[in-house]
This record gives sequence, structure tokens and C-alpha cells, in this order.
Amino acid sequence: MKSFCIVGAGFSGAIIARHLAERGHKVTVVDERPHIGGNCHTERDAETGVMVHKYGPHIFHTADKRAWDYVQRFGKFQPYVNRVKAISKDRVYTLPVNLLTINQFFGTTMGPKEARAFIEDKADRSIQAPRSFEEQALSMIGPELYRAFFHGYTRKQWGLEPTELPASILKRLPLRFNYDDNYFNHPYQGMPEDGYTSIVQNILAVEGIDLRLDCSFESLEEKYDHVFYTGPIDRYFQFRLGRLGYRTLDFERFVDEGDHQGTAVINYCDESVPFTRISEHKHFAPWEQEKFSQTVCFREYSRLAGEQDIPYYPIRLVNEKKMLDSYIALAKSESGVSFLGRLGTYRYLDMDVTITEALSAFDQIDALLQHDNSA
Ligand code: FAD
Ligand code: UDP
Repeated sequence: MKSFCIVGAGFSGAIIARHLAERGHKVTVVDERPHIGGNCHTERDAETGVMVHKYGPHIFHTADKRAWDYVQRFGKFQPYVNRVKAISKDRVYTLPVNLLTINQFFGTTMGPKEARAFIEDKADRSIQAPRSFEEQALSMIGPELYRAFFHGYTRKQWGLEPTELPASILKRLPLRFNYDDNYFNHPYQGMPEDGYTSIVQNILAVEGIDLRLDCSFESLEEKYDHVFYTGPIDRYFQFRLGRLGYRTLDFERFVDEGDHQGTAVINYCDESVPFTRISEHKHFAPWEQEKFSQTVCFREYSRLAGEQDIPYYPIRLVNEKKMLDSYIALAKSESGVSFLGRLGTYRYLDMDVTITEALSAFDQIDALLQHDNSA
């Protein structure tokens, strides 16, 4: 039996903890927050009773059957399709850009083939290999749709010019020439009926896990055979090579009677509006929304994270990537610790990828431990 410390009780930490404990190892899980679930934490809003995604809206979507099957073991998922609305210059559209967006925006009634040719004509064909967000947008949808939906929103979200951001950020979003308004292309999508925290709680519900909340790794005095660290990699090394840049979010909560905006998420694309979006959380749980007479909403503001702020989105520009490489080199030379998850690897990871990577990390360590036992 070996002793493990798992730093962080989000999906990454909970999964590693479960499987090590099932193998009979001594497992301590620490999280400095007063709750489990990491950034996916959900809780009932005390005033309205609505299930709230405390650190921003989370929709489970994946093409990975292993991750999908895995989460189904720990709670019931309700069918849920993410459909996002966007306001630009006082008009409401649907996102991602689809045939309805195109027809409404240009005041046309085109069919798929016509719209495709129309957009291809607008797209900048001189850009063969887009190097930035802006080049990606201009080569994909042309200047008008880019200006209306992406330019201002992206400046608010990232605090940078779209010319400075990588093309990969926009590649996450589909462009469709039909009326499909599903925000994601993945075959599996859903929302946990009792929230994400309940899923994580069920993952952690095995004998042999010592869970300590309100407890930072840095405050521990015990020694462990191995540590899985899902906190920020630069923090583990006391920021000795500098601080990796993050965007943080501020949420402005407000309550209304009944239904406030008629849908879960509305993006505000104009820069004259300081927030990026409003989320109305009762719409993330349509199966129970009739139960609540009131509704709770959050305006979301993005800004550069200061030292005391919650790190949300890794910025990952050239300088950060260089610093990250140095931290990764440091991590490789450090024995007895593995870095995992969104903060441990400083990548924007969706939940499904987090889950798959945690399962793979466990498989690797398990194989090593079995090998040690048989040697
Ligand atoms: P986290 O959830 O961040 O957990 C890390 C935990 O470690 C935290 O609880 C923290 O308190 C703890 N910790 C850190 N350092 C220490 C320390 N030194 N000592 C003790 N505890 C420590 N994914 C999707 O699939 N769909 C979505 O719709 C989606 N929406 C998102 C929206 C936003 C606004 C953001 C920011 C992310 C979104 N994600 C979404 C991504 C999702 O949040 C991550 O994939 C997931 O949270 C990663 O889990 P994790 O366990 O790696 O990290
Ligand atoms: N984006 C935008 N306008 C929108 C929605 C998204 O400009 O209405 C840009 C923005 O830069 C964002 C990126 O597209 O970071 C990817 O969108 P996604 O919905 O994946 O954003 P995230 O999950 O990062 O909030």
C-alpha cells in the first residue's frame, strides 16, 4: 500500500483519488475551497432554489464514448442542447453562425447552397493559413459577421486584439449552412440532473479517501509517496520562474420574477456593453424550471487575473508558452509529483478531456505499481 496526496477535488483529482483508493492505497484529497467539484461546482441558490453553476455555465459535451459512459455511472444526465443567442447592435441572433444568423443579418432568405457561395464570396481567400483569430475569422466568414459577433466580444473576453490571439480559439466554433443551432458538434451532450457536484461526490464515495476541504497543499506537513497536483503548476514552484497569465471572471448576480431572458445564455457582442454574456441558470435545468417562481441570472465580466483572483482561462501567448515550457522542464526534474488537469497543465480543457486524461494518468501509475508489486 502506498500513500498518495491528491491536490484539488475537481474532476481530475476526484477520478485519480477514486481509482487509487479502490486499489487499496491510502489517499488524501485536499482542496482549499470549502466544497468539492472544482470549477464545475454547482449548488442551489439560497434565495431562488435554482441550481447554479457557481464558476460559470458548464455543459457536458463530448465525442469520447469512454468519458460519456464514465460520467453516466455517477449520476443521471438529462438531455440538454446548448443553444446560444447573441445580441449585436440591438438585434438578437442565434450562434454559432448558421443559416438563420446569415439570413437575419443580411436580410436575405437564402438556402444552404446560396448562403455558402455568398459567405465564400465574402471570405478573404488571400489568407491561406490563418495565423491569428482575426485571420481565421476573415477567411471563414468575412468582415461583416466578424465585426458583428466576434471582434468586440473577443476583445472583451481576452483583453487583447484578435490579431494577437491564436486562430485555434475560433476553430472551436462551428459554421453551419443549415438551421441547426446546437452550439456543439459532439454526439453526446447532457446536463447532470442533480448538478456536477453530486457527480463528483459519487466519484469520491469510496472507502479509504480522507477528504480535507478548506485545506491547502502548502499547509500540509505529512509526507506522501506521490502527489497528484491539479492546482496551478507555477504555484507549486512558488512562481519562481514568473506567473502564468490567466483571465478571471467577475459574476454580477441578480434575481427577477419568472423568466428573465427566456433562454440560458445570451452573448453581448458589442463593446459598448461591458459584460460578455448573461446566464440564466434555471434554463440549464429545463426539467425542473417550472418549480421556481423566481429566476437568478449572472452578468459575466472578464479581466486579467490578479494574484488573488481565481484563474479561469489560460492566456497562452508566446511568452506564457515559453514560461510554461520552463515549468514543464522543472516538473520533469521533480520526483514524486505529477501535474494534471486544467491548472496543472495550463491548458483550456473541457470536462470530457479532463476526465479522459485523469483516467489515463491512473492507468499509467497503476501499471507502474503493478509492475513494482510483481518485481
Ligand atoms: P478544477 O476544476 O479547476 O479543480 C482544481 C481544484 O484544485 C480547485 O477546486 C482548487 O481549489 C484546487 N486547488 C488548486 N490549488 C490548490 C492547492 N495548492 N491546495 C489545495 N487545493 C488547490 N468544460 C466543459 O466541458 N463544458 C463547459 O461548458 C465548460 N464551461 C466552462 C466555463 C468556464 C467559465 C470555465 C472557466 C471552464 C469551463 N469548462 C467547461 C472547463 C471545466 O471547468 C474544466 O474542464 C474542469 O473544471 C477541469 O477540472 P480540474 O479538476 O482539472 O480543475
Ligand atoms: N466568441 C465571440 N463571440 C461570441 C462567442 C465566442 O467572439 O459570441 C469568441 C471568443 O473569443 C471565445 C471564442 O470565440 O473565446 C470561443 O468561443 P467559446 O464559446 O468556445 O468560448 P469559451 O468557452 O472560451 O467561453
